Amino acid sequence: MSARPFKRILLKLSGEAAMGDQDFGIDPRMVQRVAGEVKAAKDAGYELCLVIGGGNIFRGMAGAAKGMDRATADYMGMLATVMNALAMQDALEQLGVETRVQSAIPMASVCEPYIRRRAERHLQKGRVVIFAAGTGSPYFTTDSGAALRAAEMKCDALFKGTSVDGVYDRDPKAHADAVRYDSISYGKVLGDNLKVMDAAAIALCRENDIPIVVFNIREAGNLARVLAGEGRATIVGGAN
Ligand code: UDP
Repeated sequence: MSARPFKRILLKLSGEAAMGDQDFGIDPRMVQRVAGEVKAAKDAGYELCLVIGGGNIFRGMAGAAKGMDRATADYMGMLATVMNALAMQDALEQLGVETRVQSAIPMASVCEPYIRRRAERHLQKGRVVIFAAGTGSPYFTTDSGAALRAAEMKCDALFKGTSVDGVYDRDPKAHADAVRYDSISYGKVLGDNLKVMDAAAIALCRENDIPIVVFNIREAGNLARVLAGEGRATIVGGAN
């Protein structure tokens, strides 16, 4: 990946990034490690927005599959993302990084409500802003929440931290001969139904010309390397 003049980025992590090697929930050591990556990026001069999923705690689809009302289950999923956001805020502040959590579902005693202009001020003051509760609406995912916030906050790129080093034509964990892309268009990702982010999130990034940088967050020091144009990553972007 070549170095790009990114200044403000949105980092999207799935809830699994907070889970570590556990099967469920939050592993504080894993959150601390990822917080270290975020601090390094901040210290390198980047403005950082964060969105963390909730799949390590609850997914609406899983609840619905077991007979729950889908919207209710999705609200539970959104609440799960707030727990992850608070865990990350705690880990970042222990490292001395000023952080604010803003939730799309207002919960005044816990964190700020999402207010775009206020988030902008936080970023200008050098704070990391964690956007919790996704879009605030059921039937969406935190990938869509991340794409939406990246557009609203005028981020230069959406960094998607995963457990693989980019986008492949097939699941590289299941197929040893899967082919990896250095760069790929939004259209090909959508057309080939590649598992980068859900289609609504990809389409929103395409409409707003926000490149998606897919990289492995599990490798220590990788976020800083990829930001510096040195690490392995796939860039989703381009004309279509
Ligand atoms: N969710 C939602 N609306 C949103 C974002 C999330 O309803 O805008 C719910 C949905 O149930 C989802 C859960 O929150 O399954 C957790 O988010 P997600 O699955 O995106 O987490 P990740 O896979 O990134 O860990």
